Amino acid sequence: MPVTELLTLSKSSLEKGIYAALESYANVHRGSGHFSHITTHIFDEARNHVLNYLNLDHKKYLAIFTTPFGEKAFKSQFDEVHVRVIGSDEIGLALGVRVLVIKKSDIPKGEPSVSGGGTAKLTSADWVIWARNAEKFEAGTPAVINILYYTRALIAIKSDGMKPMNFALKEDTANSSFDEEWRNLSGLELLEKVQQSMIGANYMVPTMQGLQPFVNLDNSASTPTYDLIWSIFNKALSLSQEAQQKMIRHTRKVLADFVNAPESEYDVLFASNTTEAINLLARSFENAGEAGKIMNSSMEHTSNDLPWRLLNNHELIRLSADNDGFFSTEEIEQKLLTYTSNGQPASASIKLVAITGASNVMGVCNNIKEISRIVHKHGALLMVDAAQLIAHRSIDMVDWGIDFMVFSGHKIYAPFGSGALLARRGLLNFSKEQLDEIRHDGDENAAGIIALGKSLTMMQRIGMDLIEEEEQKITAYALAEMSKVKGMRIRGIDAHDHPEITNKLGVILFDIEGKMADVISKKLMHQSGIGTRYGCHCAHIMVKQVSGVGPKLEKFQWLMQSVLPNMQLPGLSRVSFGLQTTTEDIDRLCDGLKHISLNSKEDAFAVKMDVVKKQVSELLNAVGKTVFELE
Ligand code: PLP
Repeated sequence: MPVTELLTLSKSSLEKGIYAALESYANVHRGSGHFSHITTHIFDEARNHVLNYLNLDHKKYLAIFTTPFGEKAFKSQFDEVHVRVIGSDEIGLALGVRVLVIKKSDIPKGEPSVSGGGTAKLTSADWVIWARNAEKFEAGTPAVINILYYTRALIAIKSDGMKPMNFALKEDTANSSFDEEWRNLSGLELLEKVQQSMIGANYMVPTMQGLQPFVNLDNSASTPTYDLIWSIFNKALSLSQEAQQKMIRHTRKVLADFVNAPESEYDVLFASNTTEAINLLARSFENAGEAGKIMNSSMEHTSNDLPWRLLNNHELIRLSADNDGFFSTEEIEQKLLTYTSNGQPASASIKLVAITGASNVMGVCNNIKEISRIVHKHGALLMVDAAQLIAHRSIDMVDWGIDFMVFSGHKIYAPFGSGALLARRGLLNFSKEQLDEIRHDGDENAAGIIALGKSLTMMQRIGMDLIEEEEQKITAYALAEMSKVKGMRIRGIDAHDHPEITNKLGVILFDIEGKMADVISKKLMHQSGIGTRYGCHCAHIMVKQVSGVGPKLEKFQWLMQSVLPNMQLPGLSRVSFGLQTTTEDIDRLCDGLKHISLNSKEDAFAVKMDVVKKQVSELLNAVGKTVFELE
């Protein structure tokens, strides 16, 4: 449907409301974190608004949010997409949002064609239960903010009598520099300035101790964002396509510089998240038409497992990781010798080693440069999942010898549906036409990409060495303080003076003896206003390994899961730190943990749990209202 009407509702009124989502951390992935509840609530409301826009019955139909890439992949799998909804591109919003509407009764059986985090419950190394309903098709972290923005636009269109409107203001004033506000600032001075401008700082939440500022210790799931990044995202939506293209080109340069992947040596393909980027790479391997093996590890996020499991003609083998999260270079070499060298036919050899640069559960960084040397010695290629690494350590793709790398913007302070696949030139198996199409689809989310460019510039000006140093201090402090909690059981590197501490990020997996992880995280939320995450963190194989879940218990679990697919699997709690985390946050965490470990009575608190739960649900509804209500 072509755009026929010119602007009748200013873009700035669309912006309003979305800020409320960002403030309440509703940019985070849905799931088990505190504020994931708000995201889940608003996201489901967005689905309903799309159905309202189409006058469709919520009970019968399902709205699935996706991207231009996902739309094409899924359409080939759905027998019938019942209603076509206008894409964000057709209303002048460079957000890369698509929606598919199907009848609930027609949800395809079997595996989704684009797969990864969020699409499945992985109950053992071999056993997968696909998620239900729309989530089965929404691989990885969705572009929550872009989707809310787009949905608000649909509501505006509907309230204006269903005429499609063009929300773009088309200014041509793009300044291709990302650092005009910071020209005289860098290092610690800039870091402090940035910390002060965090959206959602001092956000008050109901707790059993009354209203308290929220402490977000779930940065590995999604990071918050900052005023300047949000502001460029909005500004980008108002630019002409030409100006947007210029800024996207600039972002490519910034990214190439950030990870040392010179444009002469690497292609940069923007995608909506890490999961989509891995699916793209998997498709490239499938396109090559050669059989072979892919080696990942038992520590991977499901996003770096499921796409490889489903690859035609390829067998997936797994490298083990020790209980601290380290790979053994001997094992890598030995597996490559067994499967690839020693006269193995090419069709049986390992084509790709696809491993995490930093684990989202163990928080450790393996020696990628050394692994790369071994991988290349045996003629295989190396992909690094840098979802957790990119915001925490400097990366050098050339020096480390990385062939492919993937990451997500929402884990590096740009939660606007951008991510990337960086690939050594000439290694992707796509025709020129296919590559052009992938580039075109990825670049459609110009606003998200430009916001990413800004956040990378910000990180670079602060300095990755400084960021690492600050995080190391917080991590050492947290390990030392958490260890004082009675019954505390930290998995992996658990002491500030551990010999490998410099390879540990601010990600700590733990439980307390005799307490279930979900109870710990829920109490931290309701008693202390602290957002953490619990469960298996989409890294089930590793979480089970470090929790000591043996084969018998695992078998029992999957039997239970097949009967009761919604049953909560046991798991561990996780805290993870970001640029804004302070020692005061850690003190509050440890106070909360001490209360839990000492079984402090709930009557010690001024407000009762059920009252807090009610208040949280009121907050949830209030945020939902602000996000979608037009003035
Ligand atoms: N890989 C790792 C190590 C992760 O931590 C995550 C997200 O938590 C992903 C992949 C998936 O990222 P996304 O959901 O942005 O696709």
